[in-house]
Amino acid sequence: MAEGKVPERKPDGWDGPREGYPKAQKHYADPENWKYPVHTPFHARAARRYFDQPENRTKYTEEEQAYIDWRIDQALRRYGVVEGRSLEDRVNPFDKDLEEMTLRDLLVFFLGEDRLKRALAIEEVTVDRSDGVLEGRVKEYPVRIDVADKRIAHTCPDWERRSSGGLFCKHVGAIFLKLSEEKAGLILRQLIPDREKWIFQLGESH
Ligand SMILES: [Zn+2]
Repeated sequence: MAEGKVPERKPDGWDGPREGYPKAQKHYADPENWKYPVHTPFHARAARRYFDQPENRTKYTEEEQAYIDWRIDQALRRYGVVEGRSLEDRVNPFDKDLEEMTLRDLLVFFLGEDRLKRALAIEEVTVDRSDGVLEGRVKEYPVRIDVADKRIAHTCPDWERRSSGGLFCKHVGAIFLKLSEEKAGLILRQLIPDREKWIFQLGESH
């Protein structure tokens, strides 16, 4: 259920989407005026900041303010913001939105540049299963990634050191490189903001 009331057209509203902004009104917390876009975590946080400024809020009636607040908060919750600060903010060293991060950016996040290079150089990678559970082998090392269960199981000395910090070894990186860019990106974008819930375990399965 929507809260408040959809704002009416305002004198300083926009007539349509500005260049580079979404073309559908549903992406705006104030849809009639094409203001407060919330289509990415970055924009939702910016919307919250701007709308918290009194000079912006007071352009709207209380009912309209309630609607915009509700729309912004809804977006922030959807993006996993916790206590006003997103998990993604905390773990993401890039000043970029997750959606704007390329697969390379995502892999650098988990691997670092050097390990990514080593992962790219590995040729012996097989993926045996890639439904909800990914199972594969990198050289002699098995890797199992269970997306629904939020679990990656693997064993190697580097994984032993890095996995507790939520980081990958080159073998786990190599498995992601073997997947389609779309699939790998999808999993990694889910993983970053949700990283605390994932279990990076030693061993081949659970
Ligand atoms: Zn490894």
